[in-house]
Amino acid sequence: MKLLEFEAKDVFRKYGIAVPPTGGVIEKTAQLPAALKRAGKGPWVLKAQVLAGGRGKAGGVKIAKTPKDAKEYAEKMIGMKLVTHQTGGKGLLVKQVLVDKASNIARELYFSVVLDRKEGRPVIIASAEGGMEIEELAHTRPEAILKEPVDPVRGLEPYQARKLGFAMGLSADLVSQFVPMATKLVKVFLDLDANLVEVNPLIVTDKGQLVALDGKVATDDNALFRQKDLASRPDPEASPVERQAKKVGISYVGLDGNIGCMVNGAGLAMATMDTVALAGGSPANFLDVGGGANAQQVTSAFQIILKDPKVKAVLVNIFGGIMRCDTIAEGVLAAAKKVKLNVPLVVRLEGTRVQEGKDLLKRSGLKMTLADSLWDAAQKAVAAAGSVA
Ligand code: GDP
Ligand code: MN
Repeated sequence: MKLLEFEAKDVFRKYGIAVPPTGGVIEKTAQLPAALKRAGKGPWVLKAQVLAGGRGKAGGVKIAKTPKDAKEYAEKMIGMKLVTHQTGGKGLLVKQVLVDKASNIARELYFSVVLDRKEGRPVIIASAEGGMEIEELAHTRPEAILKEPVDPVRGLEPYQARKLGFAMGLSADLVSQFVPMATKLVKVFLDLDANLVEVNPLIVTDKGQLVALDGKVATDDNALFRQKDLASRPDPEASPVERQAKKVGISYVGLDGNIGCMVNGAGLAMATMDTVALAGGSPANFLDVGGGANAQQVTSAFQIILKDPKVKAVLVNIFGGIMRCDTIAEGVLAAAKKVKLNVPLVVRLEGTRVQEGKDLLKRSGLKMTLADSLWDAAQKAVAAAGSVA
């Protein structure tokens, strides 16, 4: 799960990590005057809250000298599609804009904590050369990048933090600010089960203060069971349909194609998508109803798939293992009765009690095409989708 910049900075603030004074996020221009007031005297910086870096170069970070400028920027930014080198061509819709008091920057540094799989530990990556993308720096000046592994139990040791601070070219005074800040950033990383905490840039202000000007935090979804605050937060990356799917325990990811896929098991779901593509079609979604799907989940799965107006055919590909094929057939029939199925349906069942399952489907009188193999099913689904398009 990725936190938006303002959420990351809220966490930083709670840990006593210096961030710029803020007026909070706004969703409408009408909220701007109050936000400017909360942030304090101008100039201010308006920042598009999307889950992508490179906003600065793409027009998602604007410094406003006057409230009038701020209003102009806010009007432009809210509702815009921000395209940065990290968003892909379609860009991301800007729903929220963070209003911070602008900082006077004397120096830009780079600081992050990442999970290093090879080390089996968190590693701090730091550089005296902040502001630019770390990937770019790694490419052009790898020697400018410092690395310091961290013991996950002990956290960052003071001597390590001091060594890093001096290696980043900080004065003794700045090192004494850097040591507690770096220690707290590592603590955020460990406390939140993060796999990334990044501050780029970490700045030295003209007054000699070390401040986290930007913040990026990504956490491990597998640890959500013990991260109650994170777990209860709606994932801004999930679409409404993906959220509904999550609620009923179905893994669903919307895609661009027109063949809705309902499959049990993530591996089979991936194979189904590949086979659909091989047959010349394109899947509308990844959907895994799970190993122990019941009739209700199958019904929800149908509802979720059919919410996508792009879907021109539905392909059900279920392997009856623990779950028997006849139970699945009953689920499909119950779902089809409840959901108005207005596109062709192709069903391929395999596994335990497959014949009983197929018989049930055949006897039901429900209009559908039965397939004998995955390849057969994919071809039939592609043909069906094509014939109604
Ligand atoms: P990103 O491009 O998405 O990573 O957004 P950042 O928050 O890192 O901002 C990009 C750049 O805008 C920074 O590297 C700064 O150079 C500049 N910037 C952001 N906030 C301020 C500010 O308060 N004052 C000044 N002078 N520059 C800022
Ligand atoms: Mn940044």
